[in-house]
Amino acid sequence: MFGKIKSLFSTDIGIDLGTANSLVHVKDRGIVLREPSVVAIQRDSKRVLAVGEEAKRMLGRTPGNILAIRPMKSGVISDPSITEAMMTHFLNKVCPKRVYSKYTKPRLVVAVPSGITEVERQAVENSGKKAGAREVYLIEEPMAAAIGVGLPVSEPAGSMIVDIGGGTCEVAIISLGGIVHSSSARAAGGDAMDECIVKYIRQCYNLLIGERMAERIKIEIGSAYPTGEEKTFEIKGRDLVAGLPQTKTITSEEIREALKDPVRMIVDAVRSTLNKCEPELSSDLVDRGIVLSGGSAQLRGLDKLLADQTGLPVTLADDPLSAVAEGTGVVMNELDFLVKNKRS
Ligand code: ADP
Ligand code: MG
Repeated sequence: MFGKIKSLFSTDIGIDLGTANSLVHVKDRGIVLREPSVVAIQRDSKRVLAVGEEAKRMLGRTPGNILAIRPMKSGVISDPSITEAMMTHFLNKVCPKRVYSKYTKPRLVVAVPSGITEVERQAVENSGKKAGAREVYLIEEPMAAAIGVGLPVSEPAGSMIVDIGGGTCEVAIISLGGIVHSSSARAAGGDAMDECIVKYIRQCYNLLIGERMAERIKIEIGSAYPTGEEKTFEIKGRDLVAGLPQTKTITSEEIREALKDPVRMIVDAVRSTLNKCEPELSSDLVDRGIVLSGGSAQLRGLDKLLADQTGLPVTLADDPLSAVAEGTGVVMNELDFLVKNKRS
């Protein structure tokens, strides 16, 4: 009874702590915040100067004494205190701390990369509590993504989700509310794609471009499979020989070549997970296919390539960037599910 009254006043909040973007979902309001997972700090004092959008603008443009950090970059929590500062900032932004009393503190569901260590889990839990949460539940990202896109995860039938974000590509086969097989490829996310474009343009054109420019090229003309519509992009960078700013025109075919390695790693991660599959689960997947989520799943032609390479139907989620956060919102109403999945 008391619990029911309490839940009338408290808020339930879900956070997708992504390697590139963080999203916050508030019960009955939906997704209320989307910001880059970036924190700018003063180099010596480690004081936090800016978080999110404001900090991202500083990436690659900081003077010597300011450091712009992506604390979740490779899918692990490299610096717990910075992760905590980021979570606190986002939480305060969606609901200012001062309105909480002891009983109305929010319950928090945090989606974390699968395969994070017990120490990292503990760090996220502690950060959540320090940021003002009454209780903190963790859910693995692929599970949250699968729930977010509406896959029937609790049924005794296999569903497959491939979530490709900035730092990782996470593949999972889910049945009866649990992850049966999974794999996580750290060099197959959007960041790795950007790095490959930087490298390709340096090697082929002697031109140095930044990672933000590489990301723009990827989004505008990148593809994993010929789309029948080849595009070009005017790149601006610094010529490595003359040291001067230069402009070159590059084609989508060249970018496809540049992205060959990370794309192959995505295909390999999917195929190796399928290879581990029991025959019953495999036959479920023949009918149900694979669902793609995450920002990098939007790379043109990736769905076609995966369908080609696996022989299974592949669909891209309607809103790939929101799947994980939507999933945290859905599980909030089913805390039993989270408790069952909570490792002790
Ligand atoms: P994370 O969950 O790791 O925070 P997101 O799911 O937010 O990552 O996806 C961010 C990644 O998606 C970035 O690397 C970004 O460059 C990439 N991305 C966004 N839009 C596109 C697109 N249209 N094509 C290819 N990659 C994209
Ligand atoms: Mg994500």
